[in-house]
Amino acid sequence: MTDLNQSSLLIVDDDKMNREILHRHLKNLGYTNIALAESAKAGLEIISSQTIDLILLDMMMPVMNGLEMLDYLKANIEWRIIPVIIISALDEKEMMLSCIEKGAEDYLIKPYDRVLLNARVSACLDKKMLHDHEVLNKQKLEAAYKELAVAYYELEIIKNELDALSHRDGLTGVANRRYFDTVLEREWNAAKREKKSLSLILFDIDYFKKYNDTYGHLAGDDCLCQIAIVASQVIKRPRDTLARYGGEEFAVILPDTNPLGASICAERIRYEIENLNISHISSKINPYVTASLGISTISFHLALHQENAIAQQLIKEADLALYQAKREGRNCVKVWSSNE
Ligand SMILES: [Mg+2]
Repeated sequence: MTDLNQSSLLIVDDDKMNREILHRHLKNLGYTNIALAESAKAGLEIISSQTIDLILLDMMMPVMNGLEMLDYLKANIEWRIIPVIIISALDEKEMMLSCIEKGAEDYLIKPYDRVLLNARVSACLDKKMLHDHEVLNKQKLEAAYKELAVAYYELEIIKNELDALSHRDGLTGVANRRYFDTVLEREWNAAKREKKSLSLILFDIDYFKKYNDTYGHLAGDDCLCQIAIVASQVIKRPRDTLARYGGEEFAVILPDTNPLGASICAERIRYEIENLNISHISSKINPYVTASLGISTISFHLALHQENAIAQQLIKEADLALYQAKREGRNCVKVWSSNE
């Protein structure tokens, strides 16, 4: 802790001799920062211009007496914490009580004992210093909390960015396989709960291996990216999810969508891919890159026996439909049906 003798003291007394005696006493006790004021008004001016740790205040003064000045100090939010020792020739119990009630720390009667003065000044300064430290610690704590809040906020942003990145396929930027699994599971449960349909489109690029062999893997990557872009432009509802399912295979999860709705969406994707006019001289069916698409749907509101079905079944059925599209000439859409 700081040396008490470094504290700033203020003597307010209208009597010059009283001021000087008290000043000398305090100096002899080791205090060096002592300001003097001959009136309450002069005292308040000093307090407003510099830090004061303790006020030694005379009671009997013209214009504004000690009690009035005390009132003034205690009404000010910044000054009310400065301890005040009243020094008075008035040995009246009523007056002493009144001063203590108004917030004076102590009351000394002239002529005061030096040892008593020293003890009371030290006690007041100790208390003030403790208060100042508490305020400082509180401010430091608040600043630390603020920094911590900012750090948490930044961490949250980074975490969200990382989360988003961990959901994305590195090449195409659409959802990755891991995120596809999460979304499918979530939408499967939602469809089951809400007794709604859930459709899945699986599609892959026709003769993609030949495309890579002909044009190289960089061109293959570029082709995948272009297809991801047009497919993502076709699906518009916020809950629809396009994912890269495997190498050249993509998947679209369509919540609350029946086979007809899924067919319209799949046909649109097929059309947009063909319409990209990406040359594919090694394709056996078309001069441009095309895709085959398979659709499966689960309708929880139609069949009660589907209560026990699992999401993997939907993938398996879309895959069967995709296989059928391949078998039937590619560049087409097939809907899985249990009758076939
Ligand atoms: Mg006086």
